[in-house]
Amino acid sequence: MTHDLFRADSYLRECSATVTALTPEGGVVLDRTVFYPLGGGQAGDAGVLLRPDGTALAIADTRKGKDAEGRPTADIVHVPSPGQALGLAVGDAVTARIDWERRHRLMRFHTTTHLLCHIVAQPVNGCSITPDYARLDFHMDGALDKDALTAAIARLVAQDHAVTIGAISDAALDANPQLVKSMSVQPPRGTGTVRTVRV
Ligand SMILES: [Zn+2]
Repeated sequence: MTHDLFRADSYLRECSATVTALTPEGGVVLDRTVFYPLGGGQAGDAGVLLRPDGTALAIADTRKGKDAEGRPTADIVHVPSPGQALGLAVGDAVTARIDWERRHRLMRFHTTTHLLCHIVAQPVNGCSITPDYARLDFHMDGALDKDALTAAIARLVAQDHAVTIGAISDAALDANPQLVKSMSVQPPRGTGTVRTVRV
């Protein structure tokens, strides 16, 4: 199981960690990481793992682990860019460092999709957040007014609202189903509380 440090602090750029496993596909599992794995519509992080001798293993993508039957595990798998010698073994100490410019773009696009969600009344049935663009699908007929949406988002951004991290209990979320605007994807559960982002 990989301790996901980004949940408590999205602005962490690097951490020290220990290699706990190497996957058959050539991925690296750490005991803790700042790399966000592909999920919830958001792309996985890229960056580097610095080996004990200071050399860098380039990481192209990050994924959630899978067991032999393909079910998700609590591991986070760092996927090296092709064509490199791995140069790591279980037990090695590394520094895990994300490509911050790329991640910050993902964060800004992600938060902007929440602003868009707030402006458009219809429920969401799909989303994709990449370093170059973000896309939200709304369950609706007809068209939206692009210029009006652009102006409304620009107004919210200019107001510079604080973005804060919080938590809500599963029971409180069940009692307030309108907090979830996505139709197909529910927030991750299992610990009794769900992480919230308030703008
Ligand atoms: Zn979100």
